[in-house]
Amino acid sequence: MDVRWNEGSADCVNNPQPPIQVHRYNADTFILRESLCATYEAPFIYLLIGKTKALLIDTGAVGDAKIMPLAQTVISLLPNDRSRLPLMVMHTHGHLDHRSGDDQFRALPDVEVVPTDLESVKRRLGLANWPNGIGRIDLGDRIVYVIPTPGHYPSHIALYDRQTGLFFSGDFLLPGRLLIEDTDADLASARRVAEFVEQRPVTYVLGGHIELDESGKVFLGTRYHPNERPLQLTKQDLLALPGIVTGFNGFYAKRGMYVLMNQNRILIFLAIGAVASLVAIILIFRELWRWWRSAAVAK
Ligand SMILES: [Zn+2]
Repeated sequence: MDVRWNEGSADCVNNPQPPIQVHRYNADTFILRESLCATYEAPFIYLLIGKTKALLIDTGAVGDAKIMPLAQTVISLLPNDRSRLPLMVMHTHGHLDHRSGDDQFRALPDVEVVPTDLESVKRRLGLANWPNGIGRIDLGDRIVYVIPTPGHYPSHIALYDRQTGLFFSGDFLLPGRLLIEDTDADLASARRVAEFVEQRPVTYVLGGHIELDESGKVFLGTRYHPNERPLQLTKQDLLALPGIVTGFNGFYAKRGMYVLMNQNRILIFLAIGAVASLVAIILIFRELWRWWRSAAVAK
């Protein structure tokens, strides 16, 4: 994939960057990325255009159209040689950095925004048997498969475009941190995906973010990504995922290029640690106070 993503800036105030970078993968497939200067999450957004419908995967981390003209950019990419195609807006999952642009689309005609709650995802994609079963979206001569991938988020989905062989993995698999809320669900998802892609061609696996540099160092909360590694992963990376998630202690692990984390548990652990430290300090001061008082009485 011949693209160099904007690396953001160490000084976004004096060196501002364009809000969105658009990469034309082919005539009917676009990869958009919100600028690191607009949001350190710098999420990727994907637009697939079929004969009768267009599909947008995710709406990014910035709601304000004046800062992030996402809907305007997406509409400008739709073919204008016929009446405008209906647009379906879906999400890999419901975290805010993947759906903050929704309101820009809700106001537009011929646009359907599918909510991110599990019931809506199941109903709209015909996935009654969640998380087993595969959904299908027909864009007109272009079929996109939907594979349930809970683990990072309860209603997380991955998508596979048969026409290009692109696999859209959201935050389920990306070059960086694999944030796993539910290890059992995540492992089952990794196995489900491996089984799905085994007999299918996959050109690239495209996730929601890039969090690593070329040497494997993690970028965390920074607006400057020098020497960022490429976005794309491979079918081999998908097939290897069950082995990477197997045996995860549900807390923190470094496996190959990935950092596996359960952020909620780590936060709870840190909170317990902070409370325990506070209690210990209070007890120490109480003892010191008693000792000082008894010493004063003895005098
Ligand atoms: Zn997420």
